[in-house]
Amino acid sequence: MGRRATAALAAVLAVIAGVSAFVPSATRLPQALIFDCDGVLADTERDGHRPAFNEAFKAKGIDCVWDVDLYGKLLEVGGGKERMTAHWDKVGWPLGITEKADKQALVQELHLLKTDLFNEAIVAGKIPLRPGVLRLVDEAIEQEVPLAVCSTSNERAVSNLVLTLMGRERYERFRIFAGDVVRAKKPQPDIYNLAAEALRLSPERVIVVEDSGIGLRAAKGAGMPCLVTKSSYTGGENFSLADEVVESLDDGDVDLQVLGNIVMTSLSKSQAAGA
Ligand SMILES: [Mg+2]
Repeated sequence: MGRRATAALAAVLAVIAGVSAFVPSATRLPQALIFDCDGVLADTERDGHRPAFNEAFKAKGIDCVWDVDLYGKLLEVGGGKERMTAHWDKVGWPLGITEKADKQALVQELHLLKTDLFNEAIVAGKIPLRPGVLRLVDEAIEQEVPLAVCSTSNERAVSNLVLTLMGRERYERFRIFAGDVVRAKKPQPDIYNLAAEALRLSPERVIVVEDSGIGLRAAKGAGMPCLVTKSSYTGGENFSLADEVVESLDDGDVDLQVLGNIVMTSLSKSQAAGA
């Protein structure tokens, strides 16, 4: 057999044997690493929003403190203004307020103040990153895996958080999709669809890190594999849709190879389902 024929036969055999076995491990890494912000990069509800509410109350002379347990229950009401209203409707309004218009004005004022205090806390570095986040980000930068954050929280808060807690060099490696860039918030998949389109990604080849059932549904709705890292207030939620669930990124020894394997497993599952 001539050399050319041998090479051709070898190529055919390689295909039969499954070329993937010969692909270097680097190509098995996720196509991109996409983080949710609140609860994933930092425990922002417990360590950021909750203390900011308490500071705002104090600044207005309101005798009210939301501790970690109470705030967990209050989170059942979505939206900061709605949360204060629901709480004081239940336990009684502060400052002797009785009129509906006065209640609305108070809640509005407190919410603005709380948002400013929250942003100040981020810039001051008072809200720590969760364990393992920086390690994974640095690994992605080293391996040239694109990084993104997909959050429907306030854009300024998300950008500030990444910039302050990770430094400018890392911040510049991130694409941030946040705020009102999409109309439908999570659990709708819109923010993840937008990221896939903007970064020209194959959704099934990226990995998303989320901490809540709502975020998980958004990622899966966009056809993306998703790892859940439980946070203070989401640990008890239903994560049956998740590809993997860990207590924290460090706890599960989550690195890029682990995430790449999750993507490969998810791909072969969906290929088997489609076959
Ligand atoms: Mg979250």
